[in-house]
Order: sequence, then structure tokens, then C-alpha cells
Amino acid sequence: MIKIYVTRMIPKVGIKMLLEKGFELDISPHNRPLTKDELLVSLKRKPYDGVLSLLTDKIDNEVFDTVPSAKIFANYAVGFNNIDIEEAKRRGITITNTPGALTESVAEHTFALILALTCRIVEGDNFMRAGKYVGWDPMLLLGTDLRGLILGILGAGRIGGAVAKIGSAGFGMRVIYYDVIRNVSFEKENGLTFRGTVEEVLAEADVISIHVPLLDSTHHLINAGRLRMMKKTAYLVNTSRGPVIDEVALVAALKTGLIAGAGLDVFENEPKLASGLTELSNVVITPHIASATVSARNEMAELAAKNLIAFFAGEAPANKVA
Ligand code: NAD
Repeated sequence: MIKIYVTRMIPKVGIKMLLEKGFELDISPHNRPLTKDELLVSLKRKPYDGVLSLLTDKIDNEVFDTVPSAKIFANYAVGFNNIDIEEAKRRGITITNTPGALTESVAEHTFALILALTCRIVEGDNFMRAGKYVGWDPMLLLGTDLRGLILGILGAGRIGGAVAKIGSAGFGMRVIYYDVIRNVSFEKENGLTFRGTVEEVLAEADVISIHVPLLDSTHHLINAGRLRMMKKTAYLVNTSRGPVIDEVALVAALKTGLIAGAGLDVFENEPKLASGLTELSNVVITPHIASATVSARNEMAELAAKNLIAFFAGEAPANKVA
């Protein structure tokens, strides 16, 4: 019987698919991420054939050594920066992810953050709850219209592309983007304009939205120097991975009015937040929930299960990244 360790409960649809195929599943009983020690102890219990992992699990040499029988790690996420991919390749271990399932959800959440900033939704909500509303005021909490503004996308892959479409088709924004890979047909279809450097996007855009994977090359892609290149009126939104932004530098930029505001779903040292971040009124923060819709999470569970099922049927999993 194929033995799989599931590092945390995922939507039942994926669990059911694996059980129906006759897999033996051990699921972490905790409703929280496992500590590294707990993960190692759990994986030592049986010679597991595979692991269904989460983005909160650091899968490295130590883990691979602990469970040498596991030939596949099916990550329940599109990002796989939690896994040492090079080491997995060296050892011939298969790694899969769950792309596509959450593209629209993350794109919609990105726009929720953009609109929360430009329409000052959170500030307005706090104002009401604090009992400060005394009647309509022509100058109260003035926001920013998106129509005609420039949306700058950093990383125009699946999610960046979907955000670009919402911005241009839905809000009449002009969209520019930077990506290490230029996609001319996508530009033509969606009316996007390519910029050859990150700096050009930062200097021109009114709203900058980040959608790159976390790699060595994207760590602190936005740092103090690059924040200084942005317009004072610009908003920065990040639904990719926290370490793509130097969060301490961002807090300083927001405090001093170097940029207008930021919308963040991901943080450099999750679940910790940089000191001072929560005191700023020009920031909207959500707890890494951009993909947290019922349908996206169900589809992610199905994809992770399908990847495992295909692997153990001797087929190539659809979402193999290593
Ligand atoms: P994708 O692979 O389709 O797109 C990523 C794009 O970034 C690609 O076009 C790639 O060429 C580009 N890129 C890579 N390095 C770059 C660099 N240095 N500069 C500019 N562009 C670069 O991935 P996706 O499905 O669009 O997802 C993007 C990321 O979003 C994921 O890697 C993941 O970390 C993150 N994500 C976050 C959440 C969330 O809950 N907040 C959910 C899903 C995905």
C-alpha cells in the first residue's frame, strides 16, 4: 500500500481522492504548521512513499535524509520556494505544485487590496467603528480613481497576467510590465506594454503589483533604493512572497511618505510583521489569504492529489517542477 504523509489537513476532496485510490494516509493532527522537529519525528514513523507538503514546511536536506523512501513531495501551493529544488533534483525526488487553480482568486484578492487602498475602505471602516462619523463631508477620506492610472506588473505570469487583464478591461488602467521573459503575444492580446527594467516600471507606475516567484534573484527585489524610485503618490501591492520586499525599508518609506501606501498579503518573516507596520494607516494587510477561496483551495487539493496519483501510476504528474 502506498503510504503518504500529509503535513496538515487540506480540503477533503483531495483526501477522498487519495483514499479512493487505496493510499494509506497519515495526516498531522495539528491545526497549525508542524515545527521542523515535529515534521522530522512524524516522517520517521514509517517509510513513507510520498509527502503532501505545504508552503509552511521547509523541505530541505534534513527532511530528505529523514525519509529517504519518499520519492515525491506534492506541494499544496503554486510557489515552491519552501523546497530545496536543486537538492531534490540531485536526489531524483519529484516535486509538484498546484498552478492555475488559484490564479483568479489571487488576482481578485490583489484587486481587493488595490481598491481597499484607493477607496480607503479599511480607514473608512475603522472610522465608522470608532464612532467618528458625524455626517457627509465633502473632504472626508478622499481616495484615488483608477481609470487612466498606470498599473505596473512585476512578473507577468499566470497571476500577473490575470491582474493585468482586470486592470485594463475592468478599470481602464494602462498596464506596463517587467518580466525576465517578454511575452509579445500576451502584450498584443491584452494591450500591455513591456518595460526592459524593474526601474522603469517603478518610475512610471501609479500602482505596482508584484507577482514574481521567490528566488535568489527576486529576494528584496524591492529595497530602499527601489522604493525611492517610485512616485510619492504610488501604491505597492504584494501578493507573491514576503521576502521579495525589504519590509523594514517599506515601513520606513510608508512612514516618511516616500510612497502613498501598500497592500500586503505576504510578509518577510511570516507570521511576524516588521516593527511599525500595523501602526500605519496607509497599509492594508491580510493574513496570506489571497488564494483562500473555497473553490481555489478545493482545486488545489485535487491537483495535489492528482499529482500523487499520477506519480504512483507511473505517469508524469501534470505539475512537475522537479
Ligand atoms: P508564474 O510562474 O506563472 O509567473 C511568475 C512570473 O514571474 C513568470 O512570468 C516569470 O518569468 C516571472 N519572473 C521570474 N523571475 C523574475 C524576475 N526576477 N523579475 C521579473 N519577473 C520574473 O507564477 P504564478 O502562478 O503567476 O504565481 C506567482 C507567485 O505568486 C508564485 O510563485 C507564488 O509565490 C505567489 N503566490 C502567492 C499566493 C498567495 O496566497 N498570496 C498564491 C499563489 C501564488
